[in-house]
Amino acid sequence: MKQTLKKLLGETVLQPVRNLRLQLRSVPYRLGSAVECPICGSTYKDFMPFRYRKSAYCPTCKSLERHRYIYLSLRDRLGFYAPPRKKVLHFAPDICLIPSIKACPDIEYVTADYMTSFTDSITIRPDYVMSIDDIQFSDASFDVVIAIGILVMVPDDTKAMREVLRVLKPGGYAIFHDPINLQQPHTFSDATLSAEEKKKLYHGHDQRWYYGADYADRLRAQGFLVEDDNYVQRIDYKRFGVTPTEKIYIAQKPASKV
Ligand SMILES: [Zn+2]
Repeated sequence: MKQTLKKLLGETVLQPVRNLRLQLRSVPYRLGSAVECPICGSTYKDFMPFRYRKSAYCPTCKSLERHRYIYLSLRDRLGFYAPPRKKVLHFAPDICLIPSIKACPDIEYVTADYMTSFTDSITIRPDYVMSIDDIQFSDASFDVVIAIGILVMVPDDTKAMREVLRVLKPGGYAIFHDPINLQQPHTFSDATLSAEEKKKLYHGHDQRWYYGADYADRLRAQGFLVEDDNYVQRIDYKRFGVTPTEKIYIAQKPASKV
């Protein structure tokens, strides 16, 4: 009862209050145009802080560094918003990316999420409630799958990778983005960590996997083609508020694979 009331209050009362507070806090950041959010077009003196990071958050569309980089990569590198027509599956859809995808006439857009508590500030109520390691679609159904911060939470992430590969059409691709420590050679799971060690690693975020430099190899082992991503060096990352070491993993299903 308490939880239901809290959820109801969250959706009807607390969210508008939070939004108003955010917009008031954002006023000083709006006094300038040194940085620009490519997703919503807003300009600021600086992006707002987010958790322990400075210059991270766009108070208009709620994008973070990774979202702005993914958006620029989709738009300018991959031609995602241009013809030909494509069918896209987006897991735990990021609220800042949804409007541009929905507005694109060349995209048939399907969203899915396994979470049962929906937070308006992060995502939306999805079209389908399903887990990425058990996708309820036929083989070769999608041209593009987007999964930002998803694999890191899945108990059997290799099964999830195989499921994404299965539902992609030959030649189609998935966009994966997860917290990765490239200084750490190998990936390991949380099973052997104490609470204190978890807190120390990745700032205490709750996650199943601690990805290392072998992240791309783990995707390749499941059958994807993955190239190293250096696109960040070709954009004005300071202006767009993107971390200079940012990477996404574009995992393609081989054209010959059925
Ligand atoms: Zn924005």
